[in-house]
Amino acid sequence: ADTAQTDLLDLIAQLNSDPAVHGILVQMPLPKHLDEQAVIDAIDPDKDVDGLHPVNAGRLASGLPGFVPCTPQGAIALLESAGLTDMTGLKAVVIGRSVLVGKPMAQLLLERNATVTICHSRTRDLASQVKDADIVVAAVGRPELIQGDWIKDGAYVIDVGINRVEGHLVGDVQTEEAEKHAAAITPVPGGCGPMTVQMLLENTLLAARRQEETAR
Ligand code: NAD
Repeated sequence: ADTAQTDLLDLIAQLNSDPAVHGILVQMPLPKHLDEQAVIDAIDPDKDVDGLHPVNAGRLASGLPGFVPCTPQGAIALLESAGLTDMTGLKAVVIGRSVLVGKPMAQLLLERNATVTICHSRTRDLASQVKDADIVVAAVGRPELIQGDWIKDGAYVIDVGINRVEGHLVGDVQTEEAEKHAAAITPVPGGCGPMTVQMLLENTLLAARRQEETAR
């Protein structure tokens, strides 16, 4: 909380130039007095294992190899591990449009030929969008915003949300009711969180391999 912006930028510059460091992740959110975007922009895109640097966001949007944010990458791995390896033509609804989760999630689904709708705080009639979806990804941060009976029978549900309610964690989806309809649904906690950590390790390994190759 008492770190100065210049000290943080100096530390990132030092990590950027240290060949023994392959990946850098700045845990967000930062204290109010720090400029988050300036901090993200300072990370070497080749060490940006959380995929937040505009260069990596641009690479993802352009269909080029780069670093993909860990949470949406983990969500895709979860869908595939639940048996959804072909998403062609499926209707996917992503709720939330953050740079960290919603937008890259939509791009990853689009790359897999899903028909993607992005919903957000200004969306009208969220229920009707969700009711039609074969894949639902909720990344909002509102406890149980997505009602269980909105979930279409056989839909795949990824609940990214983490909300603390009366001392325990709940997701953005009413899990108990949604489970009656979904083909598969992630629990909160214990679903997207651990997969995010796994993807961070994968991205760090990928970064190390790429940097070793470039150094050769
Ligand atoms: P954010 O606050 O940046 O974005 C929230 C999004 O939700 C916004 O795009 C907003 O438009 C949308 N939204 C808000 N109210 C809405 C409403 N009533 N209807 C529809 N959309 C609405 O949050 P974020 O960083 O994308 O994170 C979202 C949630 O996911 C949070 O609960 C966060 O803690 C969680 N999260 C979990 C992991 C994990 O590893 N499991 C990783 C990242 C974020």
